[in-house]
Amino acid sequence: MDQTVWKSVVGEMEVEVPRGSFVAWWQPTKMLACSEELTTIAVPNVFAKSQFEKKYDAKIRELLASNGVTPKKVEYVIESTTKRRVISRETTATQPGGKPGLGARKPAHDPTALNPRYTLDSFIVGGSNDLAYSACQAVVSEPGDKYNPLFLYGGVGLGKTHLMQAVGNAIKANDPEARVLYVSTETFVNEFLDHIRYKKKGFEEKYRGADVLIVDDIQFIAGKEKTQEAFFHTFNALRQANKQIIISSDKPPRSIPTLTERLRSRLEWGMAIDIQMPDYETRCAILKAKSSAAGIELDSETVEYLATNIKTNIRELEGVLNQILAHSEMRGITPDVSIAEGFVGNVKRMRPHYLTGRQIIDKTARYFQLSVDEICSPKRSKHIVMPRQIAMYLLRSELHLSFPKIAQELGRKDHTTAIHSVEKIEKALKLDFAVREQIAEIREKLYA
Ligand code: ADP
Ligand code: MG
Repeated sequence: MDQTVWKSVVGEMEVEVPRGSFVAWWQPTKMLACSEELTTIAVPNVFAKSQFEKKYDAKIRELLASNGVTPKKVEYVIESTTKRRVISRETTATQPGGKPGLGARKPAHDPTALNPRYTLDSFIVGGSNDLAYSACQAVVSEPGDKYNPLFLYGGVGLGKTHLMQAVGNAIKANDPEARVLYVSTETFVNEFLDHIRYKKKGFEEKYRGADVLIVDDIQFIAGKEKTQEAFFHTFNALRQANKQIIISSDKPPRSIPTLTERLRSRLEWGMAIDIQMPDYETRCAILKAKSSAAGIELDSETVEYLATNIKTNIRELEGVLNQILAHSEMRGITPDVSIAEGFVGNVKRMRPHYLTGRQIIDKTARYFQLSVDEICSPKRSKHIVMPRQIAMYLLRSELHLSFPKIAQELGRKDHTTAIHSVEKIEKALKLDFAVREQIAEIREKLYA
């Protein structure tokens, strides 16, 4: 993509906006696509996105127009530097040296096979995933009917792959003839590339012949326009034939960068459901279920200790549990809370540094382009109040500070505001997608 036009827009803005905002929001941007219909601009985070949409959109259109670009729509998509790195690692791994030897990327096992371990029965349901679970049940009872496509999204290690494969397994159990095809997006991309580069046969037959097509981690299709087109046609063919499509991603369709508009709208046709980190009770239930499946009953103190201390994702929870179980088995001892402490300690020590309240306030302020003084000031203007509430929420969720202590960190005497703020953000996390993303991004920065 030629960046000349966009560079000139950014250059104009440099004199318009404050230096801090320019460096944080404008410099990392780039133009991803540009046509008469749609111009897509990559922005560094959710906050920048909302600023561009609300505050700068008109100005940007004006500047684009003065460069001869007048799209019907300008769209801002989030493309953080960390995510970019993940995606490019993916591409280099699958296309070694530009000369993709076919053998080089052949995986050790059949990547389209369903893992029998993933069943609906072994999936523990709680408030964070019950919608996704019920939708999956509905799909099993009537594939291709109601939720088509079914789109599941959420952070890593929260059970997306498990649920989708469980649907596949259940459909096959009901009907052994059903052609259930599970692929990672990486596999889909590679097979498509082989198909066009080496005229490898069977691509269309394989995908269009599926009764149920499950595509995992579709976010990796971002930026691959030809593959998106191929997927789009596959999608339409299957939908027309009432075949079930299930897709997962780490974010909703509208937040996947550089998705062609028509594919985005297809993905939004059916049902998009997010999966979040299970709450404390569900984490306890998962620990109990997994340990008893391994033939060991953990005492409740150990279960509670693990559920309290591991709040990142289920994969990590499971990882620590497996280490504890293996360690205890090797030594012939019963796992207890003191052993658990050691392993949780390992996980925590692996995290880069010890976090202080000051750092939370500092990084939250910086994320919102505010100073620490502003966030700690008594000012009640809207653009400061929300970041302040988020800082309070993070002091609570990351450091478990008491409310009086949270108030004190922010230079306040009365702790009722802290209670109110934390509650407000907890509620917003459930209802407001943007807030959830913002907090996830700040958290990423806290532990970076
Ligand atoms: P994702 O695809 O969202 O990154 P996975 O489906 O790979 O996550 O889940 C990571 C691990 O956690 C898997 O071993 C899975 O079985 C387990 N897991 C996640 N959620 C649950 C749940 N609700 N109940 C039981 N196991 C779960
Ligand atoms: Mg997965």
